Amino acid sequence: MIDLRSDTVTRPTPQMRAAMASADVGDDVYGEDPTVLALQERVADMFGFEAALLTVTGSLANLLAVRSVVPTGAEVLCESSAHIARAELGAHATIFGITSRTWTDPHGRIDIGQIEALVAPDLGPYLVATAAVSIENTHNFGGGTVQAIGDLQRLRALADGCGIAVHLDGARIWNAQVATGQPWRDLAAGSDVMAVCLSKGLGAPVGSLVLGSAAMIAEARIWRKRLGAGWRQAGVIAAAGWYALDHHVERLADDHANARLLAEACGAAPEAVDTNIVALSVPDAPAVVRRAREDGVLVGVVGTRTVRLVTHLDVSATDARRAAEVLARIV
Ligand SMILES: *Cc1c(COP(=O)(O)O)cnc(C)c1O
Repeated sequence: MIDLRSDTVTRPTPQMRAAMASADVGDDVYGEDPTVLALQERVADMFGFEAALLTVTGSLANLLAVRSVVPTGAEVLCESSAHIARAELGAHATIFGITSRTWTDPHGRIDIGQIEALVAPDLGPYLVATAAVSIENTHNFGGGTVQAIGDLQRLRALADGCGIAVHLDGARIWNAQVATGQPWRDLAAGSDVMAVCLSKGLGAPVGSLVLGSAAMIAEARIWRKRLGAGWRQAGVIAAAGWYALDHHVERLADDHANARLLAEACGAAPEAVDTNIVALSVPDAPAVVRRAREDGVLVGVVGTRTVRLVTHLDVSATDARRAAEVLARIV
């Protein structure tokens, strides 16, 4: 089976497993795991933040990140298909009493005009106060969309102008960097707090990080423990992430090339594919999923008329070509 459902399906390589097996570890609840500490420092520095915290999932990283800039009873603005709005099962509302309002863009892009129209940081005691805007780079359900650097800058200016924060869900920021060649810090510069995932395109089995100021991360650490997600010898996990940063970032360009090849074979415009995700419009998505499965290709459904193809570490160029033949025949 060639599995194009998600870039979360990758399995750690033998070399990554070896790095995990030989990791130096300690008790991370005591702040004594050297591999965790090193990874947190490395990733914080990479993106120009003071501190970072390793978490079990990206959803937890987002939850802790949004909580650090949005108080209970206030709102976060996000795009309507954002992961925090659609795919975190209402965590921000159920756990922290945070509400949201959304703008809509078919590709999940920042839309300054729509955001400006929504922002309401202080309209008196009867309207919910906007505390932050959350964006995704790349945007998952938008189809792996890279946010334009100019939009990131305009959003920062808007947020500064009305005294609100910016949260960046950078689960796939690695793909955005490889696609654009922008320095890591420039991609993060417009945000107050950020989340990144090691378990998507980077191919680690587990792990995400929250990045922010030292004070935010100290508080996030308390909340992580309070939510039952403190961990002990997590260095085995951190070692996988460290290995992935050394060996699995530049190769994301191969995933992007494979995604363009798949798009082209399926009659979609390859130039519309920014990174490793192809959203294909089809008349009957479940039927495409069924027929592709019969021919050895797994694809995901994100709507009744949309299937999603995601390329990753475990899909070679040969696999991509074979999947392209199968999908071209079906769609
Ligand atoms: C995958 C993903 C996350 C986090 O997902 P987990 O499964 O909780 O690790 C967050 N944001 C985006 C955009 C994602 O694609």
